[in-house]
Amino acid sequence: LRDQLATNRDEKAQTKCGTELRLEANINGVSDAKAAAAMGASGIGLYRTEYLYLTHSDLPDEDEQYEVYRDIIAASPNHNVTIRTLDIGGDKTVAYLGHDHKEANPFMGWRSIRLSFEHPEFFNTQIRAIVRAASEFPQGTARIMFPMVTTVEELRKLRSMIRKAYKTLTARDIKVKELLFGMMLEVPAAAISIDTMLDLVDFVSIGSNDLVQYLMAADRDNPKVSHLCQPLAPPVLRVLKHVITACNESRTPVTVCGEMAGKPKAFLLLLGMGLRRFSMSPAFVPSIKQLASQISIEEAESIVATVMKFKTTAQVKKYMTRQIEQVA
Ligand code: PEP
Ligand code: MG
Repeated sequence: LRDQLATNRDEKAQTKCGTELRLEANINGVSDAKAAAAMGASGIGLYRTEYLYLTHSDLPDEDEQYEVYRDIIAASPNHNVTIRTLDIGGDKTVAYLGHDHKEANPFMGWRSIRLSFEHPEFFNTQIRAIVRAASEFPQGTARIMFPMVTTVEELRKLRSMIRKAYKTLTARDIKVKELLFGMMLEVPAAAISIDTMLDLVDFVSIGSNDLVQYLMAADRDNPKVSHLCQPLAPPVLRVLKHVITACNESRTPVTVCGEMAGKPKAFLLLLGMGLRRFSMSPAFVPSIKQLASQISIEEAESIVATVMKFKTTAQVKKYMTRQIEQVA
């Protein structure tokens, strides 16, 4: 199946009208990076570093982390990788970072950068390891990305931590390459106030898996509320359109790296909202590339114009099922 799907591996990702798209992959490790290349992804839109920590019983040191990141960048298409700092908490715990107790609301609690900020030694080490690894590949595009950003103050603090990492490494005679700095957009507060954050970032990546659960107040892992945790729900579509429009107007590159980017119905809607960069599981890249080649931007925009009038998820799904049948 894999060979069959990847027959378009070397084809450009573009729409029927010739608009170029960037289809990237979400990965957890080196073997995924190789799969991303085999599937024809043009880079890695999300490397989830937490698996490195989940598979260790104590904190890996800077050299160990650096080596893992370096191997990932080496294996990735065009050495084009977006590395996300630790996103632990919620459903994943790492005892050696003091994350060994139960919280009443783990997804709204001590997770991601909220936890990393309280372990500055760990956080600074991770940032340095990422910068060192990226600096080994001057020909590639390496980006650093922070999960669960909620406030402007957090962004300012993160920027100063990166500057500190550049300084420390330079003082150690390491030739540093400056990375593009991005935030994951997955908290409703950040979505609503995105205009106040754009001058502090080089790019935005929408984490729709979390954004949807927070917008709908419906746990992404709880089947009892899965009818509510729906990326095609009209309120979710409104928020996505708001964020994509704000990013495009300020010419800030914007990606969706949640699961919806690789789903045909959601892909068409995101395309029609103005999104041109998508990151998904490697296995979805070939079929999304194929779908993109069968639709023009104008068609996708007109689908969005209709869908934005719908009031229920069921209406959106029904209409989009028809649209996909017509395209395919
Ligand atoms: C997301 O929230 O959409 C995302 C891509 O991050 P994760 O699934 O790792 O939380
Ligand atoms: Mg997330």
